[in-house]
Amino acid sequence: MTARLLDGKAVAARVRGEVLARTVALAARGLVPGLAVVLVGEDPASAVYVRSKAKAARECGVAAFDYTLPKEISEAELLTLVRSLNDDPTVHGILVQLPLPSHIRTRKVIEAISPEKDVDGFHPLNVGLLAQGTPRFVPCTPLGCMTLLAEAGAELAGARAIVIGRSNIVGKPMAALLTARDATVTLAHSRTRDLAGEILRADVIVAALGRAEAIRGEWIKPGAIVIDVGINRTAEGKLIGDVEFAAAAERASAITPVPGGVGPMTIAMLLANTVDAAASVTV
Ligand code: NDP
Repeated sequence: MTARLLDGKAVAARVRGEVLARTVALAARGLVPGLAVVLVGEDPASAVYVRSKAKAARECGVAAFDYTLPKEISEAELLTLVRSLNDDPTVHGILVQLPLPSHIRTRKVIEAISPEKDVDGFHPLNVGLLAQGTPRFVPCTPLGCMTLLAEAGAELAGARAIVIGRSNIVGKPMAALLTARDATVTLAHSRTRDLAGEILRADVIVAALGRAEAIRGEWIKPGAIVIDVGINRTAEGKLIGDVEFAAAAERASAITPVPGGVGPMTIAMLLANTVDAAASVTV
């Protein structure tokens, strides 16, 4: 392997350390940042994720308020809870774990979250601010990818970047962030013709398509930086990314592993957003 490994665990630990330093400083002013984490139903993957968010929050001096609700809860009841959290001065960030059960309109719930407490960055107002190049809260996974690109020393201005996947959670905000940093951005998706050719031209590759090792090592331009967002579970229960890691690492200058790359960054950036939210109410 010739690529430098971008150690998301180590970078995330550093970001969490910075968050802790900020929460200590805020506590000295009598302010404890609070994060409400709302989980509807008992999807095991979501439950694990929510628990690790709450644990990481507490370790960083952020108060975590857990709301685990039965999957039968009505949309109206969930909206009532969100509104009460909007009004609660001890809560600075609100996260509603997705996906929600099908009888609840996700859009309604996201739109009910106060944009000032929308630490996931999914509210249309925050999406619009990012699109206009004046971001407030940015979705945590793409924000983590940007931090890893900084760690890699990526020269983004003028670079050719490709994002594979155009979801609202990862791909689209990632493309907006790279555009804001003056990269020339291609946003690829399932209808892209000649994906290999598009990737071969890119200096920076962000793979977020959710297809195990679909991005082949031979498609990586020598020296490119590869950020692999994908989390795919093999039949044997192993976690692998969207990029064919071993072959890509022979050509890239830097690459994230899966697991241990982008994954740990997401929670760290959530906590950073929560502290930003808390800090902004005191000004
Ligand atoms: P979505 O399923 O919402 O979006 C996938 C995107 O990839 C779509 O835009 C789709 O195109 C595109 N796509 C699918 N197949 C192909 C293909 N063969 N070629 C090119 N593009 C393709 O996924 P998410 O954005 O939510 O997640 C992407 C991956 O990232 C998943 O593996 C997920 O587990 C992981 N993830 C990891 C996180 C982390 O913390 N590390 C956080 C969030 C997600 P189209 O729009 O045309 O359908």
